[in-house]
Amino acid sequence: MQKTANFKLGAHRPLVISGPCSAETRTQTLETCLALAATGLVDMFRAGIWKPRTSPGSFEGVGAEGLEWMAEAKRLTGIPFGVEVASARHVEQALAAGADAVWTGARTTVSPFAVQEVADALRAFSGGDRVAVLVKNPINPDIALWTGAVERFLAAGIPGQNIGLIHRGFSHFGQGKYRNAPMWPLTFDMRGRFPGMTMIADPSHIAGRREYLREISQTAADLRYDGLIIESHCRPAEALSDAAQQITPEEFAELIKSINWRAAATDDPEFMQSLELFREQIDNIDDAIFDLLSRRMKISERIGDVKKAGDVAILQSDRWGAIRERVLSQSLDLDLSAEFLNQILDAIHVESIHRQNRVMNRGE
Ligand code: PEP
Ligand code: MN
Repeated sequence: MQKTANFKLGAHRPLVISGPCSAETRTQTLETCLALAATGLVDMFRAGIWKPRTSPGSFEGVGAEGLEWMAEAKRLTGIPFGVEVASARHVEQALAAGADAVWTGARTTVSPFAVQEVADALRAFSGGDRVAVLVKNPINPDIALWTGAVERFLAAGIPGQNIGLIHRGFSHFGQGKYRNAPMWPLTFDMRGRFPGMTMIADPSHIAGRREYLREISQTAADLRYDGLIIESHCRPAEALSDAAQQITPEEFAELIKSINWRAAATDDPEFMQSLELFREQIDNIDDAIFDLLSRRMKISERIGDVKKAGDVAILQSDRWGAIRERVLSQSLDLDLSAEFLNQILDAIHVESIHRQNRVMNRGE
């Protein structure tokens, strides 16, 4: 039997959470949890009971009744459980049902009022010492908002070791391969703000589609995340929410077993030597790249002088279109994706305009 009282986030490395997006029926909840328990790979069972859906009319969860199913699943399997909460009433009901963790979803972390209400309720019902509190990132890439949510929980007296961060990706207006953009570097920033705080990835909500779960999970492991939360369902095709990203408990087991949680570091001298060799090459190449960029910007400034003398505008859309097209046409030969080339071109363009603007408006 797994430990049920006072769930300790730090005691599980990697911390693995799984369960359906939503608890839908007693049978589906129990069937999924029993199958997950049989894998022996789950530290915590998850399900949404109250679902903050983007559009009204979508399945909004079964409500408090689902908590009884989760408590029953815990009695049967010994696996602790966590649910999403968005209000004081949710916290009260989740605690009364014996939840081991609560989390704020992406649509709740964006709202300081809602986060404060959840934090106050955890304090009022002395939940902070009893449960783990997981804070999903807000739906938009706003680290300050995510930070503020964590600070509200800390200020409500919840110890830092009971708080965890869940990275579920950021909304990106439908562009890109995944449902939500991972923007991994932003999350390193978050880790820097709360060193030592458990941080897990949510490949299901980043991916939006089950075929991407493995690559995202491995990336999270390689980036030293402390664990994963993965949606699973006994019959994913019939799921009432997030059907495209859920997997069966058996697929979940296969996925988890395939992840390589590599060591953070090694002192093997042969390994360090080959790493150093490559790092030296990288440093040299970076020097060359930035030297070229510096020269390029100086030429941009000279173009600024010419445009000023000729009294023409900075932005020459046709010319930029041609530059972009010429570089992108080399994407295959360079073995660099169009997305990456576009990002670099955009950064160069913005800086060029900025430099030319300075030159052309000097002394005016
Ligand atoms: C969920 O975990 O099912 C959920 C709604 O996620 P998010 O808040 O990340 O969208
Ligand atoms: Mn979901």
